[in-house]
Amino acid sequence: MDDCIFCMIARGELDARTVYSNDLVIAFDDITPQAPVHTLIIPRRHYADMGDDVPDEVACALFAAAPKVAAIKGVAETGYRVIINNGRDASQTVQHLHVHVMGGVPFSHGMVHFSQ
Ligand code: AMP
Ligand code: ZN
Repeated sequence: MDDCIFCMIARGELDARTVYSNDLVIAFDDITPQAPVHTLIIPRRHYADMGDDVPDEVACALFAAAPKVAAIKGVAETGYRVIINNGRDASQTVQHLHVHVMGGVPFSHGMVHFSQ
Protein backbone atom coordinates (compact mmCIF):
# COMPACT_ATOMS: atom_id res chain seq x y z
CA MET A 1 0.00 0.00 0.00
CA ASP A 2 2.16 2.82 -1.33
CA ASP A 3 -0.06 5.73 -0.30
CA CYS A 4 -1.25 4.44 3.08
CA ILE A 5 0.11 6.70 5.83
CA PHE A 6 0.30 3.90 8.40
CA CYS A 7 2.18 1.67 5.92
CA MET A 8 4.55 4.60 5.43
CA ILE A 9 5.08 4.78 9.20
CA ALA A 10 5.62 1.00 9.30
CA ARG A 11 8.25 1.31 6.54
CA GLY A 12 9.96 4.19 8.37
CA GLU A 13 9.12 6.67 5.59
CA LEU A 14 6.99 8.89 7.79
CA ASP A 15 8.07 10.07 11.25
CA ALA A 16 6.21 8.80 14.27
CA ARG A 17 6.92 8.68 17.98
CA THR A 18 7.39 4.95 18.38
CA VAL A 19 6.38 3.57 21.75
CA TYR A 20 6.78 -0.17 21.15
CA SER A 21 7.41 -2.51 18.24
CA ASN A 22 8.00 -6.14 17.43
CA ASP A 23 8.00 -8.32 14.30
CA LEU A 24 4.26 -7.95 13.77
CA VAL A 25 3.15 -4.60 15.19
CA ILE A 26 4.28 -1.04 15.82
CA ALA A 27 2.85 1.34 18.39
CA PHE A 28 3.25 5.10 18.09
CA ASP A 29 1.66 8.19 19.60
CA ASP A 30 -1.40 9.60 17.89
CA ILE A 31 -0.62 12.83 16.05
CA THR A 32 -3.80 14.45 17.41
CA PRO A 33 -4.10 13.02 20.92
CA GLN A 34 -7.58 12.94 22.41
CA ALA A 35 -6.31 12.04 25.90
CA PRO A 36 -3.04 12.55 27.83
CA VAL A 37 -2.04 9.07 26.63
CA HIS A 38 -3.19 8.24 23.11
CA THR A 39 -1.14 5.63 21.30
CA LEU A 40 -2.01 3.65 18.18
CA ILE A 41 -1.01 0.04 17.59
CA ILE A 42 -0.91 -1.09 13.96
CA PRO A 43 0.04 -4.31 12.20
CA ARG A 44 3.19 -3.91 10.11
CA ARG A 45 1.33 -5.42 7.17
CA HIS A 46 -1.64 -3.65 5.64
CA TYR A 47 -5.14 -4.79 6.63
CA ALA A 48 -7.90 -2.30 5.96
CA ASP A 49 -9.95 -3.30 8.99
CA MET A 50 -10.84 -6.21 11.26
CA GLY A 51 -12.72 -7.94 8.43
CA ASP A 52 -9.72 -7.99 6.08
CA ASP A 53 -8.66 -11.61 6.71
CA VAL A 54 -6.39 -10.65 9.59
CA PRO A 55 -4.32 -13.71 10.59
CA ASP A 56 -4.88 -14.89 14.14
CA GLU A 57 -1.26 -14.23 15.07
CA VAL A 58 -1.60 -10.60 13.98
CA ALA A 59 -4.86 -10.17 15.89
CA CYS A 60 -3.17 -11.67 18.95
CA ALA A 61 -0.15 -9.43 18.54
CA LEU A 62 -2.35 -6.32 18.43
CA PHE A 63 -4.22 -7.46 21.55
CA ALA A 64 -1.04 -8.42 23.40
CA ALA A 65 0.63 -5.10 22.63
CA ALA A 66 -2.06 -3.05 24.40
CA PRO A 67 -1.00 -3.81 28.01
CA LYS A 68 2.65 -3.41 27.01
CA VAL A 69 1.92 0.04 25.61
CA ALA A 70 -0.12 0.90 28.71
CA ALA A 71 2.80 -0.09 30.96
CA ILE A 72 5.31 1.90 28.89
CA LYS A 73 3.03 4.95 28.96
CA GLY A 74 2.48 4.63 32.71
CA VAL A 75 -1.26 3.94 32.73
CA ALA A 76 -1.30 0.20 33.46
CA GLU A 77 -2.32 0.82 37.08
CA THR A 78 -4.73 3.72 36.55
CA GLY A 79 -6.48 2.07 33.62
CA TYR A 80 -6.95 2.73 29.95
CA ARG A 81 -9.45 2.33 27.17
CA VAL A 82 -8.78 0.22 24.06
CA ILE A 83 -10.78 1.18 20.99
CA ILE A 84 -10.97 0.04 17.37
CA ASN A 85 -13.02 2.17 15.03
CA ASN A 86 -13.99 -0.35 12.37
CA GLY A 87 -15.68 0.84 9.19
CA ARG A 88 -17.88 3.75 8.19
CA ASP A 89 -20.39 3.85 11.03
CA ALA A 90 -17.53 3.73 13.53
CA SER A 91 -15.93 6.75 11.79
CA GLN A 92 -12.74 4.90 10.87
CA THR A 93 -10.69 7.57 9.11
CA VAL A 94 -7.44 5.71 8.34
CA GLN A 95 -8.07 2.55 6.36
CA HIS A 96 -5.22 0.58 7.94
CA LEU A 97 -6.35 -1.43 10.97
CA HIS A 98 -5.30 0.24 14.21
CA VAL A 99 -5.98 -0.02 17.92
CA HIS A 100 -6.29 3.10 20.07
CA VAL A 101 -4.89 2.90 23.63
CA MET A 102 -6.09 5.89 25.62
CA GLY A 103 -5.61 6.88 29.24
CA GLY A 104 -4.21 9.32 31.75
CA VAL A 105 -7.63 10.73 32.57
CA PRO A 106 -10.86 9.20 33.89
CA PHE A 107 -13.29 8.56 31.03
CA SER A 108 -17.02 8.60 31.54
CA HIS A 109 -18.71 5.20 31.71
CA GLY A 110 -20.68 4.88 28.41
CA MET A 111 -18.45 4.42 25.43
CA VAL A 112 -20.56 5.59 22.53
CA HIS A 113 -22.11 8.75 21.20
CA PHE A 114 -23.93 8.74 17.92
CA SER A 115 -24.93 11.41 15.45
CA GLN A 116 -28.62 12.33 14.81
P1 AMP B 1 -9.61 6.45 13.38
O1 AMP B 1 -10.55 7.61 13.43
O2 AMP B 1 -9.95 5.37 14.34
O3 AMP B 1 -9.40 5.94 11.96
O4 AMP B 1 -8.22 7.00 13.90
C1 AMP B 1 -7.19 7.46 13.09
C2 AMP B 1 -6.22 8.13 14.00
O5 AMP B 1 -5.00 8.28 13.32
C3 AMP B 1 -6.66 9.52 14.46
O6 AMP B 1 -6.72 9.54 15.89
C4 AMP B 1 -5.56 10.43 13.92
O7 AMP B 1 -5.25 11.49 14.79
C5 AMP B 1 -4.38 9.46 13.77
N1 AMP B 1 -3.39 9.82 12.79
C6 AMP B 1 -3.58 10.23 11.51
N2 AMP B 1 -2.41 10.45 10.89
C7 AMP B 1 -1.44 10.17 11.81
C8 AMP B 1 -0.02 10.20 11.78
N3 AMP B 1 0.67 10.57 10.68
N4 AMP B 1 0.66 9.85 12.91
C9 AMP B 1 -0.02 9.49 14.02
N5 AMP B 1 -1.36 9.43 14.10
C10 AMP B 1 -2.07 9.77 13.01
ZN1 ZN C 1 -1.48 0.50 5.30
